[in-house]
Amino acid sequence: MTFTLAATDGAARAGTLHTAHGDVPTPAFMPVGTKATVKTVDPDELRALGTRILLGNTYHLHFRPGEDVIAELGGLHAFMGWDGPILTDSGGFQVFSLRDTLLATDDDGVTFKSVYDGAAERFTPELAAHIQALLGSDVAMCLDICAPAGVGRAELELAVRRTTRWAQRQRDLPRARGQLRFAISQGGLDQNLRARSSSELVDLDFDGYAIGGLSVGEERAAMFAATTDAAAALPETKPRYFMGIGDPEGVIEVIARGVDMFDCVLPTRTARTGSALTWEGRLNLRNARFARDPRPLDETCACPACTRFTRAYIRHLVNQEEILGLRLLSLHNLRFLLDLVAAARQSIERGAFASWSADALARLARPTEKEPA
Ligand SMILES: [Zn+2]
Repeated sequence: MTFTLAATDGAARAGTLHTAHGDVPTPAFMPVGTKATVKTVDPDELRALGTRILLGNTYHLHFRPGEDVIAELGGLHAFMGWDGPILTDSGGFQVFSLRDTLLATDDDGVTFKSVYDGAAERFTPELAAHIQALLGSDVAMCLDICAPAGVGRAELELAVRRTTRWAQRQRDLPRARGQLRFAISQGGLDQNLRARSSSELVDLDFDGYAIGGLSVGEERAAMFAATTDAAAALPETKPRYFMGIGDPEGVIEVIARGVDMFDCVLPTRTARTGSALTWEGRLNLRNARFARDPRPLDETCACPACTRFTRAYIRHLVNQEEILGLRLLSLHNLRFLLDLVAAARQSIERGAFASWSADALARLARPTEKEPA
């Protein structure tokens, strides 16, 4: 059993993903450790913040330091000092999001220029499976074709067709011990293509399913509508993973639509720009109004930044480009999102998700306390 459902409330679900490195309560936010590190954050700190599963990146780890190096050093868990569950993406998102590096896509695979040295490289479903087997992640993703927002139907249809074929090829290839394999539905905002993609992949019977090709620049309301359909087209008994959402409002919206897992670089990337996620909206600590502000980043947060330091101090660190400033903001932003998702789970278990989410979205949207433009 890969996934057990503990409670549902409307479409929202609370469950448990069972992996070779432990159980993950869902909904689950997965901090992103692209290059085998969540930037500036120690694995012990990740654990203390409430992280239960991390993301690693097939594309980047393949090129640097290479899956052979990582395998020789005991696999990705040992290499990065994290003994909890890890999900690795397939590299599909990087290959197709770095579109100016694409050289050719055909039925067999995709050729592109590596972002590291410009050399022509080729990814196939077989290579994606091989890399992830050597990394030893708990959840491996199928290689997919992520079409950008706004492409024509023909291109979208081709992406769906190849994504299914590639999933079929990758499904039964060798995998690490206990490794789960998820397929990724495509189809953009096109209802028919999304339904076709989901149904073809569900017929192939994977351990779980991701909703891909959204959050790639399309309008938010349309994205959420597509999420509703995409989630509903997937089996109730399998985990559902929305790829690439991590803003507080977006997280709540996809949980409401039946999504169990999601990832985003937003908490750590936002931190590196000097901003904090809070119940007052996003605070840009560079703003002069925080120069003498004795309050923590967020009054309700129990993270290592909020329990010890003032906004004024963190603003000083950020302005002086002190590494501790971005570390504290990273710790806070991760904790804020992990706490938010834990609260969502509790509300689903209580059967109170609708009122909890309405209240949370209203708090996050309070216009009077938003950052001045
Ligand atoms: Zn905090």
